[in-house]
Amino acid sequence: MDLSLSPADLAFRDEVRAFLAGNLPPDISATFFACRRHSFDEMMRWHHILHAKGWVAPHWPVAHGGAGWSVLQQHIFDTEAMAAGAPRLRPFALRMIGPILIHFGSDAQRARFLPPMLSGEEYWCQGFSEPGAGSDLASLRCKAVRDGDDYIVTGQKTWTTTGQHAQWMFALVRTDPDAERPQKGISMVLIDMRSPGVRVQPIITIDGDHHVNDVFLDAVRVPAGNLVGQENKGWDYAKFLLAHERVTVANVGQAKAEITLLKGLARARGRLDDPVFATRLVDLETDMAALEITNLRMLSQLGPGRDAGALSSFLKLRGTEIQQRITELAMEVAGPEAAPWREDGAGNARRGPEGYGTHGWLFSRAFTVFGGSSEIQKNIVSKQILGL
Ligand SMILES: Cc1cc2nc3c(=O)[nH]c(=O)nc-3n(C[C@H](O)[C@H](O)[C@H](O)COP(=O)(O)OP(=O)(O)OC[C@H]3O[C@@H](n4cnc5c(N)ncnc54)[C@H](O)[C@@H]3O)c2cc1C
Repeated sequence: MDLSLSPADLAFRDEVRAFLAGNLPPDISATFFACRRHSFDEMMRWHHILHAKGWVAPHWPVAHGGAGWSVLQQHIFDTEAMAAGAPRLRPFALRMIGPILIHFGSDAQRARFLPPMLSGEEYWCQGFSEPGAGSDLASLRCKAVRDGDDYIVTGQKTWTTTGQHAQWMFALVRTDPDAERPQKGISMVLIDMRSPGVRVQPIITIDGDHHVNDVFLDAVRVPAGNLVGQENKGWDYAKFLLAHERVTVANVGQAKAEITLLKGLARARGRLDDPVFATRLVDLETDMAALEITNLRMLSQLGPGRDAGALSSFLKLRGTEIQQRITELAMEVAGPEAAPWREDGAGNARRGPEGYGTHGWLFSRAFTVFGGSSEIQKNIVSKQILGL
């Protein structure tokens, strides 16, 4: 595989750099370089800027409002945008349900839902996991019962990331409790979060933040027109979606940008003079380079209608381990500043730095859980790649 960029790719990279220099608001990039997480509002501001340029959905076909970029162009954009300190857009609409509707949805659904996903007018969340149905997702119990032109949905979803901001949720529900296999009785439906009977309750994670929620669905009416594809085929669409989710959680562009930032901080604090620390950093960079090449090799093999399959599990596993190692080294660089709370001199507890402090490290524990835990990815790799 030739990894050098062609003249056309170099021209594209220059175009991306020029766009970032002229359009990424300095206060938003400053958040990244101050080692803080981008807020939801900063992320959405960037979404609107990308939408105005026509770059918000690089991987969607042009016919549906995407940029139609090649995988290499997407990689170049991602790497450049993250290095410049841009927020990473949330995947739920653009990477998950959008592509599902493009592939499996009806014309009416595409016309209704794709434009506000692109414009950012409607924000989406993912309603798959339930208490007792995470790794064993097929055991989900949230049920949808047909009633005239509607389904009546009753149950609970959990760990729903940014559900507090969402107008819509794509959810897996049980439509046939008597199916011969649990996977065959599941459908995918689109639920308006403003419907009567929807209640969103925050879950505060170990880093003290509100990323995720419980969502309670109490006899929520969902029009039958919001069924995606065919009834009881939801498992097939979910598998398609999860393979795509795992590719994106490898998060190569962001991890590379974070390593560069970490290296700068380590140099400024004299940590690179410590041979043990320096060796660990070099190991991390080497593994990162190997992941990037593997990611590119894999993405270049994907074409229309071909998903990443079990290889996406490998990327998810490796990518999230690397992200956790970044936060571990960042804590070491921060030293005492990594403490989650500090006294502000007036007797008040003040929050410590997020990106390179305990907050980032604590939240990174979730990386090897969401999108399917590492143990589950290893099971998939051992069965489908190693044939064990
Ligand atoms: C921060 C965060 C955000 C999330 N966001 C979303 C979201 O937006 N939407 C959504 O639907 N879900 C979301 N999830 C849920 C996520 O997908 C699940 O947490 C994940 O699939 C694991 O399921 P579980 O939590 O029920 O753990 P369990 O399935 O109960 O697993 C517990 C432990 O047992 C291990 N284990 C389970 N089965 C096996 C097995 N067969 N072999 C070996 N080990 C096994 C697991 O690896 C894990 O260590 C999120 C989770 C987190 C933490």
